Amino acid sequence: MRTLAVVGGGAIGLAVAWRAAEAGWTVTVFDPEPARGASYVAGGMLAPLSEGWPGEDRVLTFGAAALAQWPAFAADLREIAGESMFVADETLTVALDSADVTDLRTVSDWLAGFGHDLRVLDRAGVRALEPALARTVRAGLHARTEPAIDNRRVLRALRKACSGIEIRAEAVTSLDELPHDRIVLAAGARSAELWPGLPVRPVKGEILRLRHRPGVAPPPTRVIRARVHGRQVYLVPREDGIVVGATQLEAGFDTAVTVGGVRDLIADAETILPGIAEYELAEANAGSRPGTPDNLPLLGHLDDRVVAATGHGRNGMLTLALTAALVPALLDGETSAIAELAAPHRFPASVMPTLQGGVR
Ligand SMILES: Cc1cc2nc3c(=O)[nH]c(=O)nc-3n(C[C@H](O)[C@H](O)[C@H](O)COP(=O)(O)OP(=O)(O)OC[C@H]3O[C@@H](n4cnc5c(N)ncnc54)[C@H](O)[C@@H]3O)c2cc1C
Repeated sequence: MRTLAVVGGGAIGLAVAWRAAEAGWTVTVFDPEPARGASYVAGGMLAPLSEGWPGEDRVLTFGAAALAQWPAFAADLREIAGESMFVADETLTVALDSADVTDLRTVSDWLAGFGHDLRVLDRAGVRALEPALARTVRAGLHARTEPAIDNRRVLRALRKACSGIEIRAEAVTSLDELPHDRIVLAAGARSAELWPGLPVRPVKGEILRLRHRPGVAPPPTRVIRARVHGRQVYLVPREDGIVVGATQLEAGFDTAVTVGGVRDLIADAETILPGIAEYELAEANAGSRPGTPDNLPLLGHLDDRVVAATGHGRNGMLTLALTAALVPALLDGETSAIAELAAPHRFPASVMPTLQGGVR
């Protein structure tokens, strides 16, 4: 029997554990608080195209490949959990001023070069899709292939998928203490604590959950994204309301929700969807995204025994299905062009000295 320790039971660790067990590994997951990290607070957008920007070609390629994995992955989870993972089918990025309109055209032109057809809609086109949006919205970029999932549903489904797998509510303090044949390091933003020098850092994000109330305008049917006062804001529909995200701060492992963060998120969301003020403020959370220097994850061997499955940054939900497919293959020594984009050895020794030097 081949034994595998998965260190970290967030969405990434659970999905890898599930698929590795299917591939014949005897898996143990270690996590003092499974399914509660960044994966629990996330928004659930699967938006590699709308989030793209000229020059970020590798992130786009990886993200588009990740999105393509989602339908089959979600169908498997639906079979296990008995409910759909999806909460929206499309994404609409809206422009509030002429600079935003120019940016939407820039992104649309750049994406067309990769074969992605996203149309820029005028004011009337946007209103026809989402009539509750503010009248100040001038244009929109319509991504018809970018859905959103409910991250908490996904976590519940993954817990079920892992029901035959041992999950130990323990923190791992050193990978050397684990006797398993192989180890997957999936400790999210804390991964560098177990592999010093790994270029993963916490990127704080605050996010709100708003509950719909009777008599109040319903949530949009699509993911709505915008830039307000230079800040990114997005609204992701949920069965019972809207998720409003998210701040992005270099703040170490601070997960306090600040007054300023909540104020900005509500003000920016209200700018694009005025009816939001009538919703109930149900939750305010903050989490640590596992950020990397180039916004691609770290998937691949760190040494003969340890495989990294971390560094998913602000796209861990998007790249979940692809990660769950790639990591079991990497454990078997198989790689692919898409896996190479996320290979840890893409970073030079100056960034990740422990990899080349073999010194932990
Ligand atoms: C506000 C916010 C909004 C987001 N929105 C989106 C979005 O819309 N779309 C998208 O694609 N992504 C989004 N993300 C990013 C996404 O949530 C993350 O990339 C993803 O959850 C990372 O998953 P993970 O399993 O690696 O990390 P986590 O979910 O953080 O899990 C890591 C786990 O490791 C465990 N752990 C840590 N140290 C140890 C140890 N020593 N031993 C054992 N276990 C340990 C922790 O307890 C934790 O459970 C968002 C993130 C935030 C914070």
